[in-house]
Amino acid sequence: MKTYLVTGAAGFIGANFIKYMLAKYDDIQIVVLDLLTYAGNLGTIASDIDNKRCFFVKGNICDRELADQLFAKYAFNYVVNFAAESHVDRSIENPQLFLQTNILGTQNLLDAARQAWTTGKDATGYPTWRTDVRFHQVSTDEVYGSLGATGYFTETTPLNPHSPYSASKTSADLFVQAYADTYKMPVSITRCSNNYGPYHFPEKLIPLIIKNILEGKKLPVYGDGSNVRDWLYVEDHCKAIDLVIHKGKAGEVYNVGGHNEKTNLEIVKLTIRTIRQLMEEEPQYRNVLKKKEMGADGQLSIDWINDDLITFVKDRLGHDQRYAIDPSKIQRELGWLPETSFETGIVKTIRWYLENQAWVEDITGGDYMQYYERMYKGR
Ligand code: NAD
Repeated sequence: MKTYLVTGAAGFIGANFIKYMLAKYDDIQIVVLDLLTYAGNLGTIASDIDNKRCFFVKGNICDRELADQLFAKYAFNYVVNFAAESHVDRSIENPQLFLQTNILGTQNLLDAARQAWTTGKDATGYPTWRTDVRFHQVSTDEVYGSLGATGYFTETTPLNPHSPYSASKTSADLFVQAYADTYKMPVSITRCSNNYGPYHFPEKLIPLIIKNILEGKKLPVYGDGSNVRDWLYVEDHCKAIDLVIHKGKAGEVYNVGGHNEKTNLEIVKLTIRTIRQLMEEEPQYRNVLKKKEMGADGQLSIDWINDDLITFVKDRLGHDQRYAIDPSKIQRELGWLPETSFETGIVKTIRWYLENQAWVEDITGGDYMQYYERMYKGR
Protein backbone atom coordinates (compact mmCIF):
# COMPACT_ATOMS: atom_id res chain seq x y z
CA MET A 1 0.00 0.00 0.00
CA LYS A 2 1.52 3.33 -1.10
CA THR A 3 0.30 6.56 0.45
CA TYR A 4 0.02 9.85 -1.38
CA LEU A 5 -0.33 13.40 -0.16
CA VAL A 6 -2.10 15.20 -2.99
CA THR A 7 -2.45 18.92 -2.41
CA GLY A 8 -4.98 21.10 -4.22
CA ALA A 9 -7.11 18.13 -5.28
CA ALA A 10 -10.37 20.00 -4.79
CA GLY A 11 -9.32 22.07 -7.81
CA PHE A 12 -9.43 21.25 -11.50
CA ILE A 13 -6.41 19.08 -12.32
CA GLY A 14 -5.89 17.67 -8.83
CA ALA A 15 -9.48 16.40 -8.72
CA ASN A 16 -9.10 14.74 -12.11
CA PHE A 17 -5.81 13.25 -10.91
CA ILE A 18 -7.17 11.59 -7.78
CA LYS A 19 -10.17 10.21 -9.70
CA TYR A 20 -7.77 8.74 -12.27
CA MET A 21 -5.46 7.27 -9.62
CA LEU A 22 -8.24 5.76 -7.48
CA ALA A 23 -9.76 4.14 -10.56
CA LYS A 24 -6.40 2.78 -11.73
CA TYR A 25 -4.84 1.49 -8.49
CA ASP A 26 -6.48 -0.60 -5.77
CA ASP A 27 -3.49 -0.52 -3.44
CA ILE A 28 -3.11 3.19 -2.77
CA GLN A 29 -4.24 5.63 -0.12
CA ILE A 30 -4.63 9.31 -0.90
CA VAL A 31 -4.78 12.16 1.57
CA VAL A 32 -6.07 15.35 -0.03
CA LEU A 33 -4.86 18.59 1.55
CA ASP A 34 -6.76 21.60 0.24
CA LEU A 35 -7.57 25.02 1.63
CA LEU A 36 -10.82 25.21 -0.37
CA THR A 37 -10.14 28.67 -1.76
CA TYR A 38 -12.58 30.06 -4.33
CA ALA A 39 -11.06 27.54 -6.79
CA GLY A 40 -11.50 24.49 -4.57
CA ASN A 41 -14.78 22.65 -4.39
CA LEU A 42 -15.28 19.75 -2.03
CA GLY A 43 -18.35 18.65 -4.01
CA THR A 44 -16.07 17.76 -6.93
CA ILE A 45 -14.36 15.01 -4.93
CA ALA A 46 -17.07 14.23 -2.34
CA SER A 47 -17.80 10.85 -3.92
CA ASP A 48 -14.08 9.93 -3.83
CA ILE A 49 -13.59 10.60 -0.12
CA ASP A 50 -14.48 7.31 1.56
CA ASN A 51 -12.12 7.58 4.57
CA LYS A 52 -10.59 4.27 3.58
CA ARG A 53 -8.69 4.91 0.37
CA CYS A 54 -9.19 8.65 0.22
CA PHE A 55 -9.19 11.18 3.05
CA PHE A 56 -9.77 14.92 3.05
CA VAL A 57 -7.98 17.48 5.22
CA LYS A 58 -8.88 21.14 4.95
CA GLY A 59 -5.71 23.15 5.42
CA ASN A 60 -3.05 25.43 4.04
CA ILE A 61 0.11 24.08 2.42
CA CYS A 62 1.90 26.93 4.24
CA ASP A 63 1.01 25.41 7.63
CA ARG A 64 4.12 23.57 8.82
CA GLU A 65 2.59 22.10 11.94
CA LEU A 66 -0.21 20.54 9.94
CA ALA A 67 2.20 19.19 7.32
CA ASP A 68 4.36 17.59 10.04
CA GLN A 69 1.29 16.00 11.64
CA LEU A 70 0.18 14.56 8.30
CA PHE A 71 3.63 13.14 7.49
CA ALA A 72 3.80 11.58 10.96
CA LYS A 73 0.33 10.07 10.69
CA TYR A 74 0.42 8.73 7.12
CA ALA A 75 4.13 8.15 6.37
CA PHE A 76 3.64 9.30 2.76
CA ASN A 77 5.49 7.74 -0.12
CA TYR A 78 4.55 10.47 -2.55
CA VAL A 79 3.75 14.15 -2.39
CA VAL A 80 2.08 15.51 -5.52
CA ASN A 81 1.79 19.27 -5.19
CA PHE A 82 -1.03 20.74 -7.26
CA ALA A 83 -2.06 23.36 -4.68
CA ALA A 84 -1.52 26.82 -6.06
CA GLU A 85 -3.07 30.10 -6.90
CA SER A 86 -3.41 29.38 -10.59
CA HIS A 87 -5.01 32.28 -12.42
CA VAL A 88 -2.77 34.82 -14.18
CA ASP A 89 -5.37 37.61 -14.05
CA ARG A 90 -5.76 37.21 -10.29
CA SER A 91 -1.95 37.30 -9.93
CA ILE A 92 -1.96 40.69 -11.62
CA GLU A 93 -4.51 41.89 -9.04
CA ASN A 94 -2.85 40.37 -5.97
CA PRO A 95 0.72 39.15 -6.57
CA GLN A 96 1.57 38.62 -2.91
CA LEU A 97 -0.91 35.79 -2.40
CA PHE A 98 0.81 33.96 -5.25
CA LEU A 99 4.16 34.37 -3.57
CA GLN A 100 2.79 33.02 -0.29
CA THR A 101 0.96 29.99 -1.63
CA ASN A 102 3.03 29.04 -4.63
CA ILE A 103 6.53 29.70 -3.30
CA LEU A 104 6.36 29.56 0.50
CA GLY A 105 3.75 26.77 0.44
CA THR A 106 5.91 24.61 -1.83
CA GLN A 107 9.01 25.25 0.27
CA ASN A 108 7.04 24.37 3.40
CA LEU A 109 6.01 21.01 1.93
CA LEU A 110 9.54 20.34 0.72
CA ASP A 111 10.91 20.92 4.18
CA ALA A 112 8.28 18.81 5.92
CA ALA A 113 9.08 16.01 3.45
CA ARG A 114 12.81 16.44 4.04
CA GLN A 115 12.34 16.08 7.78
CA ALA A 116 10.07 13.06 7.44
CA TRP A 117 11.94 11.21 4.71
CA THR A 118 15.61 11.54 5.64
CA THR A 119 17.12 8.59 7.47
CA GLY A 120 20.58 9.90 8.41
CA LYS A 121 23.72 11.18 6.69
CA ASP A 122 26.25 9.57 4.36
CA ALA A 123 30.02 9.83 4.69
CA THR A 124 30.11 13.08 2.70
CA GLY A 125 27.47 14.75 4.86
CA TYR A 126 24.54 14.46 2.43
CA PRO A 127 21.26 13.27 3.92
CA THR A 128 20.24 9.69 3.19
CA TRP A 129 16.66 9.10 2.14
CA ARG A 130 13.91 6.53 2.36
CA THR A 131 14.10 4.71 -0.96
CA ASP A 132 10.35 4.62 -1.59
CA VAL A 133 9.58 8.34 -1.71
CA ARG A 134 9.16 11.08 -4.31
CA PHE A 135 8.19 14.77 -4.17
CA HIS A 136 6.46 15.78 -7.38
CA GLN A 137 5.86 19.40 -8.32
CA VAL A 138 3.11 20.15 -10.85
CA SER A 139 4.40 23.08 -12.85
CA THR A 140 3.55 24.95 -16.02
CA ASP A 141 5.00 25.85 -19.40
CA GLU A 142 4.51 29.50 -18.41
CA VAL A 143 7.83 29.37 -16.52
CA TYR A 144 9.60 29.50 -19.90
CA GLY A 145 8.11 32.86 -20.90
CA SER A 146 6.79 33.64 -24.34
CA LEU A 147 7.70 32.32 -27.79
CA GLY A 148 7.62 34.05 -31.16
CA ALA A 149 5.88 32.48 -34.12
CA THR A 150 8.22 29.47 -34.21
CA GLY A 151 10.09 27.16 -31.84
CA TYR A 152 9.15 25.08 -28.81
CA PHE A 153 9.93 24.98 -25.10
CA THR A 154 12.27 22.13 -24.20
CA GLU A 155 13.37 21.23 -20.66
CA THR A 156 16.57 23.24 -21.25
CA THR A 157 14.85 26.41 -22.42
CA PRO A 158 15.92 29.17 -19.98
CA LEU A 159 13.31 30.08 -17.39
CA ASN A 160 11.95 33.52 -18.24
CA PRO A 161 8.58 34.11 -16.55
CA HIS A 162 6.64 37.34 -17.03
CA SER A 163 3.48 37.31 -14.91
CA PRO A 164 3.42 37.22 -11.11
CA TYR A 165 1.81 33.77 -11.47
CA SER A 166 4.56 32.36 -13.65
CA ALA A 167 7.27 34.08 -11.56
CA SER A 168 5.89 32.33 -8.47
CA LYS A 169 5.71 28.94 -10.22
CA THR A 170 9.28 29.40 -11.49
CA SER A 171 10.53 30.20 -7.98
CA ALA A 172 8.77 27.09 -6.66
CA ASP A 173 10.45 24.97 -9.37
CA LEU A 174 13.82 26.42 -8.40
CA PHE A 175 13.23 25.52 -4.76
CA VAL A 176 12.33 21.96 -5.76
CA GLN A 177 15.52 21.77 -7.80
CA ALA A 178 17.50 23.32 -4.92
CA TYR A 179 16.28 20.57 -2.56
CA ALA A 180 17.43 17.97 -5.08
CA ASP A 181 20.84 19.61 -5.55
CA THR A 182 21.49 20.51 -1.91
CA TYR A 183 19.98 17.55 -0.07
CA LYS A 184 19.72 14.96 -2.89
CA MET A 185 15.99 14.89 -2.31
CA PRO A 186 14.15 12.61 -4.78
CA VAL A 187 12.02 15.09 -6.71
CA SER A 188 10.48 15.46 -10.14
CA ILE A 189 8.77 18.30 -11.98
CA THR A 190 6.29 18.27 -14.86
CA ARG A 191 5.74 21.45 -16.86
CA CYS A 192 2.49 21.16 -18.71
CA SER A 193 0.69 23.28 -21.28
CA ASN A 194 -2.90 24.56 -20.89
CA ASN A 195 -5.31 21.88 -19.69
CA TYR A 196 -8.99 21.61 -20.49
CA GLY A 197 -11.69 19.16 -19.42
CA PRO A 198 -14.30 18.55 -16.69
CA TYR A 199 -14.27 20.47 -13.37
CA HIS A 200 -12.42 23.47 -14.81
CA PHE A 201 -13.30 26.68 -12.96
CA PRO A 202 -15.18 29.07 -15.28
CA GLU A 203 -12.74 31.93 -14.93
CA LYS A 204 -10.51 30.09 -17.43
CA LEU A 205 -11.10 30.47 -21.16
CA ILE A 206 -13.00 27.34 -22.26
CA PRO A 207 -15.43 26.98 -19.31
CA LEU A 208 -15.95 30.76 -19.23
CA ILE A 209 -16.95 30.75 -22.90
CA ILE A 210 -19.30 27.78 -22.41
CA LYS A 211 -20.95 29.47 -19.41
CA ASN A 212 -21.40 32.77 -21.23
CA ILE A 213 -22.84 31.13 -24.34
CA LEU A 214 -25.46 29.30 -22.28
CA GLU A 215 -26.40 32.60 -20.65
CA GLY A 216 -26.48 34.46 -23.98
CA LYS A 217 -23.71 36.78 -22.77
CA LYS A 218 -20.92 38.34 -24.81
CA LEU A 219 -17.72 36.28 -25.13
CA PRO A 220 -14.74 38.42 -24.04
CA VAL A 221 -11.54 37.80 -26.00
CA TYR A 222 -8.36 39.58 -24.94
CA GLY A 223 -6.67 41.89 -27.47
CA ASP A 224 -7.07 40.58 -31.00
CA GLY A 225 -7.36 36.94 -29.89
CA SER A 226 -4.08 35.97 -31.55
CA ASN A 227 -2.33 34.62 -28.42
CA VAL A 228 -1.47 30.97 -28.89
CA ARG A 229 -1.75 28.24 -26.26
CA ASP A 230 -1.02 24.51 -26.53
CA TRP A 231 -4.09 22.61 -25.24
CA LEU A 232 -4.05 19.21 -23.56
CA TYR A 233 -6.98 17.13 -22.28
CA VAL A 234 -6.66 16.97 -18.50
CA GLU A 235 -6.66 13.16 -18.26
CA ASP A 236 -3.61 13.00 -20.51
CA HIS A 237 -1.83 15.32 -18.06
CA CYS A 238 -2.86 13.04 -15.15
CA LYS A 239 -1.44 10.03 -17.00
CA ALA A 240 1.83 11.89 -17.55
CA ILE A 241 2.16 12.70 -13.84
CA ASP A 242 1.42 9.08 -12.91
CA LEU A 243 4.19 7.94 -15.28
CA VAL A 244 6.72 10.51 -14.09
CA ILE A 245 6.30 9.84 -10.38
CA HIS A 246 6.60 6.08 -10.88
CA LYS A 247 8.99 5.74 -13.81
CA GLY A 248 10.60 9.14 -14.31
CA LYS A 249 14.14 9.72 -13.08
CA ALA A 250 14.51 11.55 -9.77
CA GLY A 251 15.82 15.07 -10.21
CA GLU A 252 14.38 15.44 -13.71
CA VAL A 253 12.00 17.86 -15.39
CA TYR A 254 9.53 16.59 -18.01
CA ASN A 255 7.60 18.85 -20.37
CA VAL A 256 4.05 17.71 -21.11
CA GLY A 257 2.06 19.00 -24.07
CA GLY A 258 -0.19 17.84 -26.87
CA HIS A 259 1.24 19.64 -29.94
CA ASN A 260 -2.13 21.26 -30.20
CA GLU A 261 -1.61 24.96 -30.70
CA LYS A 262 -4.63 27.19 -31.13
CA THR A 263 -5.16 30.94 -30.90
CA ASN A 264 -7.63 32.08 -28.27
CA LEU A 265 -9.93 33.25 -31.05
CA GLU A 266 -9.85 29.79 -32.66
CA ILE A 267 -10.75 28.22 -29.31
CA VAL A 268 -13.70 30.57 -28.85
CA LYS A 269 -15.02 30.00 -32.39
CA LEU A 270 -14.62 26.26 -32.07
CA THR A 271 -16.49 26.25 -28.76
CA ILE A 272 -19.35 28.23 -30.32
CA ARG A 273 -19.52 25.84 -33.30
CA THR A 274 -19.38 22.73 -31.12
CA ILE A 275 -22.12 23.87 -28.74
CA ARG A 276 -24.35 24.82 -31.63
CA GLN A 277 -23.75 21.53 -33.41
CA LEU A 278 -24.45 19.49 -30.27
CA MET A 279 -27.70 21.40 -29.74
CA GLU A 280 -28.71 20.85 -33.37
CA GLU A 281 -28.03 17.12 -33.21
CA GLU A 282 -29.30 16.55 -29.65
CA PRO A 283 -32.01 19.17 -29.02
CA GLN A 284 -32.48 18.07 -25.38
CA TYR A 285 -29.29 20.02 -24.61
CA ARG A 286 -31.18 23.25 -25.42
CA ASN A 287 -32.96 22.89 -22.08
CA VAL A 288 -29.69 23.95 -20.45
CA LEU A 289 -29.83 27.37 -22.15
CA LYS A 290 -30.47 30.23 -19.74
CA LYS A 291 -31.34 32.49 -22.67
CA LYS A 292 -34.77 31.23 -23.62
CA GLU A 293 -35.81 32.49 -27.05
CA MET A 294 -38.40 30.48 -28.94
CA GLY A 295 -37.75 29.67 -32.60
CA ALA A 296 -40.36 29.34 -35.37
CA ASP A 297 -40.23 25.54 -34.96
CA GLY A 298 -41.49 25.79 -31.37
CA GLN A 299 -38.08 24.78 -29.96
CA LEU A 300 -35.66 26.98 -28.03
CA SER A 301 -33.75 28.94 -30.67
CA ILE A 302 -30.01 28.55 -31.13
CA ASP A 303 -29.78 30.94 -34.08
CA TRP A 304 -28.10 33.52 -31.85
CA ILE A 305 -25.25 31.13 -30.98
CA ASN A 306 -22.73 32.44 -33.49
CA ASP A 307 -19.54 34.48 -33.79
CA ASP A 308 -21.45 37.75 -33.22
CA LEU A 309 -21.29 36.92 -29.51
CA ILE A 310 -17.53 37.58 -29.57
CA THR A 311 -16.33 40.89 -28.18
CA PHE A 312 -12.69 41.94 -28.12
CA VAL A 313 -11.65 43.44 -24.77
CA LYS A 314 -8.57 45.31 -23.54
CA ASP A 315 -5.62 42.95 -23.48
CA ARG A 316 -4.19 41.40 -20.32
CA LEU A 317 -1.11 43.28 -19.03
CA GLY A 318 2.10 41.60 -20.20
CA HIS A 319 0.14 38.96 -22.12
CA ASP A 320 2.51 36.25 -23.36
CA GLN A 321 2.09 35.73 -27.11
CA ARG A 322 2.71 32.03 -27.58
CA TYR A 323 3.39 28.90 -25.54
CA ALA A 324 4.26 25.62 -27.25
CA ILE A 325 5.73 22.52 -25.64
CA ASP A 326 8.20 20.04 -27.07
CA PRO A 327 7.16 16.84 -25.24
CA SER A 328 9.74 14.58 -26.92
CA LYS A 329 11.63 13.79 -23.67
CA ILE A 330 8.62 12.25 -21.91
CA GLN A 331 7.65 10.47 -25.13
CA ARG A 332 11.12 9.05 -25.67
CA GLU A 333 11.96 8.13 -22.06
CA LEU A 334 8.57 7.13 -20.66
CA GLY A 335 6.48 6.35 -23.75
CA TRP A 336 3.85 9.00 -22.91
CA LEU A 337 1.62 10.18 -25.72
CA PRO A 338 -1.53 12.29 -25.55
CA GLU A 339 -4.44 9.91 -26.11
CA THR A 340 -7.30 12.38 -26.57
CA SER A 341 -7.35 14.41 -29.77
CA PHE A 342 -8.53 17.98 -29.39
CA GLU A 343 -11.58 17.26 -31.56
CA THR A 344 -12.67 14.46 -29.20
CA GLY A 345 -11.64 16.25 -26.00
CA ILE A 346 -13.51 19.45 -26.70
CA VAL A 347 -16.77 17.58 -27.42
CA LYS A 348 -16.33 15.50 -24.23
CA THR A 349 -15.67 18.67 -22.25
CA ILE A 350 -18.63 20.60 -23.63
CA ARG A 351 -20.97 17.63 -23.09
CA TRP A 352 -19.73 17.43 -19.48
CA TYR A 353 -20.57 21.09 -18.88
CA LEU A 354 -23.98 20.76 -20.52
CA GLU A 355 -24.72 17.78 -18.29
CA ASN A 356 -23.28 19.24 -15.08
CA GLN A 357 -24.77 22.69 -14.80
CA ALA A 358 -25.52 22.10 -11.10
CA TRP A 359 -21.75 21.88 -10.49
CA VAL A 360 -21.17 25.14 -12.36
CA GLU A 361 -23.95 26.92 -10.46
CA ASP A 362 -22.61 25.63 -7.17
CA ILE A 363 -19.15 27.12 -7.63
CA THR A 364 -20.07 30.38 -9.35
CA GLY A 365 -21.77 32.20 -6.50
CA GLY A 366 -21.25 35.76 -5.31
CA ASP A 367 -17.46 35.81 -5.32
CA TYR A 368 -17.30 34.62 -8.91
CA MET A 369 -19.81 37.23 -10.10
CA GLN A 370 -17.94 40.03 -8.32
CA TYR A 371 -14.71 38.86 -9.91
CA TYR A 372 -16.32 38.66 -13.35
CA GLU A 373 -17.70 42.20 -13.08
CA ARG A 374 -14.31 43.50 -11.94
CA MET A 375 -12.44 41.82 -14.79
CA TYR A 376 -14.65 42.56 -17.73
CA LYS A 377 -16.73 45.63 -16.92
CA GLY A 378 -15.58 48.61 -18.96
CA ARG A 379 -12.84 46.63 -20.70
P1 NAD B 1 -7.10 25.30 -9.52
O1 NAD B 1 -7.01 26.77 -9.28
O2 NAD B 1 -8.29 24.76 -10.23
O3 NAD B 1 -6.97 24.51 -8.14
C1 NAD B 1 -6.06 24.89 -7.15
C2 NAD B 1 -6.43 24.17 -5.86
O4 NAD B 1 -5.46 24.51 -4.88
C3 NAD B 1 -7.82 24.58 -5.30
O5 NAD B 1 -8.52 23.43 -4.91
C4 NAD B 1 -7.47 25.45 -4.12
O6 NAD B 1 -8.45 25.39 -3.08
C5 NAD B 1 -6.15 24.84 -3.67
N1 NAD B 1 -5.31 25.78 -2.91
C6 NAD B 1 -5.02 27.06 -3.24
N2 NAD B 1 -4.24 27.61 -2.29
C7 NAD B 1 -4.01 26.63 -1.35
C8 NAD B 1 -3.26 26.59 -0.16
N3 NAD B 1 -2.58 27.65 0.29
N4 NAD B 1 -3.24 25.43 0.54
C9 NAD B 1 -3.93 24.34 0.12
N5 NAD B 1 -4.68 24.34 -1.01
C10 NAD B 1 -4.71 25.47 -1.74
O7 NAD B 1 -5.75 24.94 -10.29
P2 NAD B 1 -5.50 23.88 -11.47
O8 NAD B 1 -5.83 24.51 -12.76
O9 NAD B 1 -6.10 22.59 -11.08
O10 NAD B 1 -3.92 23.76 -11.40
C11 NAD B 1 -3.29 22.83 -10.50
C12 NAD B 1 -1.79 22.95 -10.62
O11 NAD B 1 -1.39 22.69 -11.96
C13 NAD B 1 -1.26 24.35 -10.29
O12 NAD B 1 -0.07 24.20 -9.56
C14 NAD B 1 -0.99 24.98 -11.65
O13 NAD B 1 0.05 25.89 -11.56
C15 NAD B 1 -0.61 23.77 -12.46
N6 NAD B 1 -0.91 23.85 -13.91
C16 NAD B 1 -2.16 24.18 -14.35
C17 NAD B 1 -2.42 24.21 -15.72
C18 NAD B 1 -3.81 24.52 -16.26
O14 NAD B 1 -3.99 24.61 -17.46
N7 NAD B 1 -4.82 24.65 -15.41
C19 NAD B 1 -1.41 23.90 -16.63
C20 NAD B 1 -0.15 23.56 -16.13
C21 NAD B 1 0.09 23.53 -14.79
